Amino acid sequence: MAPALTIPSVDEAPLLQAKKNGVDSQTKFEVLENYDGEYRFAPIEEAQVSRAMIKRYFNMMYDRAVSDVVIIGAGSAGLSCAYHLAKSRPDLKITILEANVAPGGGAWLGGQLMTPMVVRKPADRFLTELGVPFEDEGAFVVIKHAALFTSTILSKVLSFPNVVMMNATAVEDLIIREDYQGKQRVAGVVTNWTLVALNHDTQSCMDPNVITAPVIVTATGHDGPMGAFSAKRLVSTGLLKELGNMRGLDMNRAEPAIVNGTREVVPGLIMTGMELSEHDGSNRMGPTFGAMFASGIKAAKEAIRVLDTHQVVNGKIVA
Ligand SMILES: Cc1cc2nc3c(=O)[nH]c(=O)nc-3n(C[C@H](O)[C@H](O)[C@H](O)COP(=O)(O)OP(=O)(O)OC[C@H]3O[C@@H](n4cnc5c(N)ncnc54)[C@H](O)[C@@H]3O)c2cc1C
Repeated sequence: MAPALTIPSVDEAPLLQAKKNGVDSQTKFEVLENYDGEYRFAPIEEAQVSRAMIKRYFNMMYDRAVSDVVIIGAGSAGLSCAYHLAKSRPDLKITILEANVAPGGGAWLGGQLMTPMVVRKPADRFLTELGVPFEDEGAFVVIKHAALFTSTILSKVLSFPNVVMMNATAVEDLIIREDYQGKQRVAGVVTNWTLVALNHDTQSCMDPNVITAPVIVTATGHDGPMGAFSAKRLVSTGLLKELGNMRGLDMNRAEPAIVNGTREVVPGLIMTGMELSEHDGSNRMGPTFGAMFASGIKAAKEAIRVLDTHQVVNGKIVA
C-alpha cells in the first residue's frame, strides 16, 4: 500500500519542498526551458495547486464581504467605471461581480457579429488613455477588433491592486434597507455562483452570500436572460414604478441620453450603460460604444461624489 500523503501547510510547503531537494529556496529547483524534448518544470504537490487558489480566493472573499464599491457586470460600461474609479481612488476596495465565466459583456464584437468597433468622438480620448490603437474617420474612430479594446481594458483593470473580480458569480438580489434618514437605500448585493443561480428550480435551499458596500454600480446591460437585473428588481421591490423599456434605435439621441442620464437612481445604486435605457426608456444605439465608456466614467465620478459626501463606517453610510 502506498504511504499516506502528508500535506504540508501552505506556509511550510515551499520550505519542505526546498529541503527535500537539498536547496534553500524554491527558485533553485532544477528547471529547464528547452524545446528540444528536455523541458523540465519545478516539482509540485497537487495539494499545493489547490491551496494556492483556495487561500487567495477565500481570503479575497473574506476581505471583500465589506467593499467600498461593488460593480455588477463587467461589460464595457462596468469595466470603464472600474478603470476610472481604480485610477482616481487607489484607496477604494473595488469589487466587480460578473455572472459570466468570460467578462466583457457585448464588447467582444461590433454589430452583427462583425469584429470592428466604432466609437464616436470625444470618447476616443479614453482609447488614447488606454493605449488602444484606432483609425480616425473624422467624427468617429474604428478599432480593428472589438476584442482589442476589451482585452486591453480588462488587463489594465485587473492590474490595479485595489480591484478584484469574481467571475461566474451572479447578483441574485440587492440588499435594501432603511438608511440613517429612514429612506430606502441599496446597501449591498446578494450573490451566488451563477451555476447555482441558474438552478434554483432544480435544487432547493441553495442560500446565497452577501457583500455590503456604501455604493453599488449596476452595469448589467439591456434586457436579456441576466440583463437589466437591477432595473427589473427595482420594479419588483416597488422602488421604481415601471421599466421605461429600451426604445427604437437612434444613435444620435441614444448615446448622450445614456451618458448624461448616468446617476444614482435610488440612494446607494448608480446605474450605467445599457441598463439605463431599460430604466429610463431611452433609445437603443446599436454597435457604437463611446456612450458605454463615457457612462462608465460618469458612474465612477458619481460613486466618488457619493463617498465624498457621506460618512461611511464599516461599509455603511451613517451620516
Ligand atoms: C450582437 C450585438 C447586439 C447589440 N445589441 C444592442 C442593442 O440592442 N442595443 C444597443 O444599444 N446596443 C447593442 N449592442 C451594443 C453593445 O453590446 C451594448 O450597447 C453594450 O454591450 C452594452 O454595454 P454594457 O456594459 O451596458 O452591458 P453588457 O455589455 O451587456 O454587459 C453587462 C454585463 O453584466 C453581466 N451581468 C448581467 N446580469 C448580471 C448579474 N445579475 N450579476 C452579475 N453580472 C451580471 C453580463 O454577464 C455582462 O457581462 C449590441 C452589440 C452587439 C455585438
